[in-house]
Amino acid sequence: MLRSFVEVAPDSHFPIQNLPFGVFRPRAGGPGRVGVAIGDYVLDMAALEEAGHFRGTPLDGRAVFARPSLNALMALGRPAWRAARAVAAHLLDANEPALRDTPALREAALWPMGAVELLLPAEIGDYTDFYSSRFHASNVGAMFRGGENPLLPNWRHLPVGYHGRSSSIVLSGAAVRRPWGQLRPPDGGAPLFGPTRQLDFELELGFFVGPGNPLGEPVPIERAEEQIFGLVLVNDWSARDIQAWEYQPLGPFLAKNFCTTISPWVVTLDALEPFRVAGEPQEPEPLPYLRQQGPGAFDITLDVLIQSPTMADPARIARSNARHLYWSMAQQLAHHTVGGCNLRPGDLLASGTISGPERESRGCLLELAWRGTEPLTLPNGETRIWLEDGDLLTLTGWAQGDGYRVGFGEATGRVLPAQG
Ligand code: MN
Repeated sequence: MLRSFVEVAPDSHFPIQNLPFGVFRPRAGGPGRVGVAIGDYVLDMAALEEAGHFRGTPLDGRAVFARPSLNALMALGRPAWRAARAVAAHLLDANEPALRDTPALREAALWPMGAVELLLPAEIGDYTDFYSSRFHASNVGAMFRGGENPLLPNWRHLPVGYHGRSSSIVLSGAAVRRPWGQLRPPDGGAPLFGPTRQLDFELELGFFVGPGNPLGEPVPIERAEEQIFGLVLVNDWSARDIQAWEYQPLGPFLAKNFCTTISPWVVTLDALEPFRVAGEPQEPEPLPYLRQQGPGAFDITLDVLIQSPTMADPARIARSNARHLYWSMAQQLAHHTVGGCNLRPGDLLASGTISGPERESRGCLLELAWRGTEPLTLPNGETRIWLEDGDLLTLTGWAQGDGYRVGFGEATGRVLPAQG
């Protein structure tokens, strides 16, 4: 098994098999730059570039690492991403002396995680959120429209989505402020204005777009994965009472645009390849432009943890899996561009809430507590139907290999009280 000279615990999310990209700056000062996570360290790709380690690769002379975002690297396309990861893997290999036995380069290029601040990995131009889990869409449909035909007629024919808001995407660790808005009153009377009483999270994965496509030129499905730079955890915080009142006929608006949290490390499709699996069976067969050859889902365990201010430790409230998604990332991307819409480097496309078939695999509180009718009991006896002020909510996820984990780290955020 491939092993690094950098010590990596067996349950670490960042072994040499992963090597996700991120952006960091030293806490001691200095500009933001691109790094790769390895165990409890960050490999400084700008330092490797300066030392000449990308000569003769597609990255030669491109100067994409000494920058405070991944956008320039994303724009170069898959051969360049692969070259970057290959150089990092080579230099980190336990049997390769070039970095291991060169103290000056180690000093310049290996940062303890505690010595750096992680930054948003990309300048996100556009953010789109899909609705790709049949279990989630069916649960929501059953709650709001009854159990007979929980899916709307279009759902099995196209990946339903909406254009979200990129300006309010924040990095894991940032607090989320309980938003104000118009609320649907319980008795159906005149709308109220106040802080949301139904604050929720959504367990999602998102992917960053690579080079993108020119306006008017769709990305065919067989080339869609070439456009996927990598994946992050996404918490699409939601205000359900605001959503219920505002969403018809044009879809979510203020209920979703106040904050979205993402994890800092972008996990590549190359790292996830060993975990590729068939997704949910698609019936009816999609139209030709959405037909994907081969399996398009990934076996990624996804956990949700909550810690209230009186809890000593976080407690898991849900465990789902990315393999439960009905529409694949390639299908989402092909559909998004089929009318000619251009995607650009750094655009973020998210899956929608990832729920599975079990009660425990529901990916939001709306489902877990079934619209408030089945409260969750936490280990300390507290109950939850929605998030409360002070709650710390954490998403995490990983693919389990034989003796290693390809993980995503965390997307976490604490709920702050509404502005007075
Ligand atoms: Mn969502």
